[in-house]
Amino acid sequence: MSLFAGEGETAGEEIAALCELVATFVTREILPAESDALRRGLPEIPRAVVGPLQAKARAAGLWCFETPEEYGGLGLDALAAVHVIEEASKHAFCVPDPGNGVFGYDPPNILLSGSAQQRDRYLRPSVDEGVQWCLGISSGGSDPARAIRTRADRSGSGWVLNGRKLWTSRADVAAYGILFARTGPGRDGISAFIVDLPHPGLAVRTVPVIRDHHTTEVTLDDVALPADALLGNEGEGFKLAQAWLNRSRLRVAAQALGMAQAALSMATRYAGQRETFGKPLAARQSVQNLLVDAHVELTCARLLLRAVAARERDGRASQGSVSMAKLRCTEAAFSAVDGAIQVHGAIGVSREMPLEHWFRALRVARIIEGPSEIHRFAIARELLGASAVG
Ligand SMILES: Cc1cc2nc3c(=O)[nH]c(=O)nc-3n(C[C@H](O)[C@H](O)[C@H](O)COP(=O)(O)OP(=O)(O)OC[C@H]3O[C@@H](n4cnc5c(N)ncnc54)[C@H](O)[C@@H]3O)c2cc1C
Repeated sequence: MSLFAGEGETAGEEIAALCELVATFVTREILPAESDALRRGLPEIPRAVVGPLQAKARAAGLWCFETPEEYGGLGLDALAAVHVIEEASKHAFCVPDPGNGVFGYDPPNILLSGSAQQRDRYLRPSVDEGVQWCLGISSGGSDPARAIRTRADRSGSGWVLNGRKLWTSRADVAAYGILFARTGPGRDGISAFIVDLPHPGLAVRTVPVIRDHHTTEVTLDDVALPADALLGNEGEGFKLAQAWLNRSRLRVAAQALGMAQAALSMATRYAGQRETFGKPLAARQSVQNLLVDAHVELTCARLLLRAVAARERDGRASQGSVSMAKLRCTEAAFSAVDGAIQVHGAIGVSREMPLEHWFRALRVARIIEGPSEIHRFAIARELLGASAVG
């Protein structure tokens, strides 16, 4: 039941139909594969199962939601994308990729600002062959303009990279990475480089974290790159990172809503079925409050996300507004999943249920793409002025 079905910023009938198609695909194809993986205690759907499902998704026209049509994707704008990504994230292993990669790996939007050769060499195979990629801004952490220490020095006509990037997810499976490195001082001294993987001088170490999907540490020791590895112009890295973060923050927000909405639906069903002391849980006001509060919070978060995504589509979303959406959606989703676990009791924390997977993924979602405190900081800057906030 949704009091707000069809209201707020909607992306139109075509996207509603696409969402239905995605929902049906998740139910018929992904959930059965996933329940087998959950029973076997795996951290994702095995690659051998993902491959054939990718072929089916492609045949159904559900491939690379956000990539422009001229490169073989669906070309969804920011508003349409948050609708579809929410729907594609209503299953346990939807992080980092909705559908566990079954719907492809949208190449990073910033590759579109690369040269024609870079787009042919990296963007097209991501769509055509489903190759994976990674993107390393950190160890810059919350303050990349100051904290990026990986260096790129000119060497002949090319570059040599040295440093360490903790937290570069997927560097162990990616065919290429976009790595941000310092080419000079300050914010204008950061540049982005495309690196073929694996690469001489570049080592990757797996770093397990509390969510199912691990991340990695990348160490660069005299990694020699040709001149055309530079993405955009020298010193444009910070601008590219911002362009990437705006879209990826909306994506993380939509994924969070998908997980939380699925958790709330499970808890609502369970509350109607499970009886204690002669009555269903749904008859207890304390349980109703948990469900109602989550429903209200998720509805507000969704309306906010869609309003901000519409602005992003029109090129007028401020950084603070994107921060508001990411903050509100991930915090509301975490709290809703926590409540859904509570309503389920012991079964809520079983590894065979998606709930505890969502709980761990959402704990991480409150940190990645900027921790909640950083988003409050960005909002404070818009509210109070940068000079007042610092
Ligand atoms: C599983 C996982 C996957 C990741 N994948 C990637 C990836 O693929 N690519 C990539 O580039 N990065 C990735 N990251 C890194 C992630 O984006 C950073 O961890 C995140 O931006 C926070 O940076 P930090 O960990 O250095 O925290 P710090 O910047 O050290 O901050 C630590 C804490 O201090 C507080 N804080 C910091 N600054 C302020 C402030 N100004 N005001 C108030 N409080 C503040 C916050 O509570 C914050 O959580 C990943 C991280 C994880 C955990």
